[in-house]
Amino acid sequence: MDKDCIFCRISSGKIPAKRIYENAGFFSIPDANPQTDGHSLVISRQHFKTALDIPASLGSELVDCIKNTSIKIMKEKNANGFNVIGNNFESAGQAVHHVHFHVIPRKKGDGFKVVG
Ligand code: 5GP
Ligand code: ZN
Repeated sequence: MDKDCIFCRISSGKIPAKRIYENAGFFSIPDANPQTDGHSLVISRQHFKTALDIPASLGSELVDCIKNTSIKIMKEKNANGFNVIGNNFESAGQAVHHVHFHVIPRKKGDGFKVVG
């Protein structure tokens, strides 16, 4: 727990946020600045800086959280696809230095560009 980290504060419940899905290692919440309708974040409960810091033993919880979050928001938003994106380190665009994965629900012709 890093008291200056926004995702640690959400993880510990100090800042309330609507949880889409959660398990022992990860939880998901809507992104504060959604790129498409339903854009969400899968966040580790513990403070890990990047994907490189996630222990391999948490791999199945990570996949479980990504899958269940994606299924739930696709259903809720009537989407028929999704992107999973992880920005790691500043050069790749990581702004919050507590590991998280973007789950971005997609609809044909929505105009969202993953690259560029
Ligand atoms: P990244 O670090 O991968 O560039 O992106 C951080 C993401 O976290 C951004 O999409 C931003 O909108 C989101 N974000 C930053 N602060 C908060 C917050 O306090 N609550 C929520 N729900 N999302 C946040
Ligand atoms: Zn943190």
